[in-house]
Amino acid sequence: MPGEALGVAEAARDREIAGLVVSWFEGAARPLAWRTDLGTSPVPRDPYTCLVAEAMSQQTQITRVEAYLERFLERFPSVAALARADEVDVLALWSGLGYYRRARNLHAAARVIAEQFDGRVPEDVAELRRLPGVGSYTAGAVASIVFHRRAPLVDANVQRVLQRLDAHEATGKEASAWAWERAGGLLDALGSAEKLPAYARLNEGLMELGATICLPMPAQARCGSCPLAGHCLARAKGLVGVIPRPKGVSVKKRLVCAVVVVIDAGGRVLVEQRAESGMWSKMWQAPTLECAKRPTQQQVAEFAVMKSADGARLVRAGGFVHQTTHRTIRFVVFAVRAVACRRKGGAGRKWVQPGALQGLGISTAARRAIEMGVGAFGYPGPPGRAS
Ligand code: SF4
Repeated sequence: MPGEALGVAEAARDREIAGLVVSWFEGAARPLAWRTDLGTSPVPRDPYTCLVAEAMSQQTQITRVEAYLERFLERFPSVAALARADEVDVLALWSGLGYYRRARNLHAAARVIAEQFDGRVPEDVAELRRLPGVGSYTAGAVASIVFHRRAPLVDANVQRVLQRLDAHEATGKEASAWAWERAGGLLDALGSAEKLPAYARLNEGLMELGATICLPMPAQARCGSCPLAGHCLARAKGLVGVIPRPKGVSVKKRLVCAVVVVIDAGGRVLVEQRAESGMWSKMWQAPTLECAKRPTQQQVAEFAVMKSADGARLVRAGGFVHQTTHRTIRFVVFAVRAVACRRKGGAGRKWVQPGALQGLGISTAARRAIEMGVGAFGYPGPPGRAS
């Protein structure tokens, strides 16, 4: 167990567990687009693809990532291409995936790789950690999965599998530190070489087990199909339902966004770019009044007038609630005609056809609000380009 010299029986158990995970993964891995080394004719993984896939996979279901990854790699096929790109283009391709900080970090990481590592993704965990947005998990993933280094990795899936396997009931930082050491111990059970393909298989196998078999809700855990069932102490002790313990519920900040979708005679909508920092920074949206509580109709009308609109004729288009990690945001959406003489673009604002929104960096919530506002006026507007 972590922190102690292993006895003979424990070392043998670890060897068996590691071997079981590796062979299970080789037979059960989902054939994801970036797992190019699976199957009968293995092709080594491309480090850049792995870096992009890992950035996209954080906080996002892996099944959603494939389509985004394909589009992203088509537009930015290499570190050099991404390093040269404009941030707005990177954000546009990330639109809908959420957590846009990941896109900015990935873009910054490509620039560091181009400038400081001669365009090659580094192999070493310490060097990988120097890249913006690359933490212990991503560094371990790239080092082990691409370069077959002995580098442990722990995400929520891996931690859950390991804690259940050993019936380890700790929580918080203590549980996390324990899991990292335990993951390293299992790699050691495979051998002491600096590089070994099995290190990649074990790491990915633990992640895959957590994603497909050892699911978070106890009722969903598929212990009957689990290769580790014979070694699992939580299962033997009836503790699957209490490991890991649920986290305390944190109170989210509440926010109201009154969105004014200003539409001109040609069906174009006014969009503005958000500030350089803060939530959804530099993304595009319809003019939005952010408040702690719901603004009055009068306040929204005055805001609309400031945004080139006929504020006296606001139409209530609908609303919805959007959840982010730290906030519950209530969107209240209004639609209104533009005042013809004030339909000007400019720095940080432009008029676009609704069909051109996909070419902008725009969050899912902002797009939904615009579609709601446009729908209230009954015309979607033809697809077209931003002006
Ligand atoms: S036996 Fe069940 S609880 Fe234990 S690791 Fe497998 S799926 Fe998870």
